[in-house]
Amino acid sequence: MGGEWERYLRQQIELGGDEVVLSISLRPSGSRPGHSERSEESGSGPLVHDLDRTSPGPIPRSARDDARVLEPRDPSAPPPLRPSAWRKGCPPIPGPGLSVESPTHVLDDELVRLGTLEEVAERIRTTHCCALCPNRTNAVPGEGNPQAKLFLVGEGPGATEDAQGRPFVGQAGNLLNGILEAIEVPRDSVYITNIVKCRPPQNRKPLPDEIAACIPYLHRQIEIVQPKVILALGSTAAEAMLGVRKSLGELRGKVHTYNGIPLVVTYHPAALLRNPNWKKPTWDDVRIARQLLDR
Ligand code: URA
Repeated sequence: MGGEWERYLRQQIELGGDEVVLSISLRPSGSRPGHSERSEESGSGPLVHDLDRTSPGPIPRSARDDARVLEPRDPSAPPPLRPSAWRKGCPPIPGPGLSVESPTHVLDDELVRLGTLEEVAERIRTTHCCALCPNRTNAVPGEGNPQAKLFLVGEGPGATEDAQGRPFVGQAGNLLNGILEAIEVPRDSVYITNIVKCRPPQNRKPLPDEIAACIPYLHRQIEIVQPKVILALGSTAAEAMLGVRKSLGELRGKVHTYNGIPLVVTYHPAALLRNPNWKKPTWDDVRIARQLLDR
């Protein structure tokens, strides 16, 4: 058993999320500590742990089990990320907020017949449903994993999104990607869309009639994806989805439900670019959403 193995196992245990830090060496049962490395590698008996605990507690079960199957890490590979660093100082899941049902009457029969996200996207791209549509370069229906557990809703496309036909690909999108990475949710595992699918001029907030015309697409997208958690980014998304006029401060810090799906409200990434003081509360909100994904 070489130093490489020992270093690797110690690293795995430290990364295992438990607070115990162990100094560990392995030898086949029946053998004496300190015998040759080669005989340990070829030994067939069960592995026995010599533990030198620097803090109390049993060796983590997963580490004990993993010891048999883990290969030594390629020394040229970058060090693995510490898993679940986002859990450190994570706020508890807050109590319930509003509970809303999607207004079924806004889903006309034609929309309900669209069975896939691609069909909904094609309908959005080929339809003019409000005054925003004629001025778009591209409609931005949304993108992501049709089986996403996390469903993100922004306000409306900006200039970069309008140019590319994809949501959150500008500066705010870069920040959002970083946030997702920090909670260990790959961007391609989520679904991302907006309340309105066409860019409002000068990035103004969408008007109520524009929202009313476009939101049926969002309701249908959520019905198709059936996510586990919805994250509303900013007050426009939160108010439109919950059907209320309330400040972001009033809507944050609760777990609302939309058709029974937990819905968490946080700041819009573009707002964080303007006001970095909102990064900490956003970090708390997204970690609440992240915990709900695990529930
Ligand atoms: N802001 C949004 O609300 N949505 C986008 O897609 C991009 C920026």
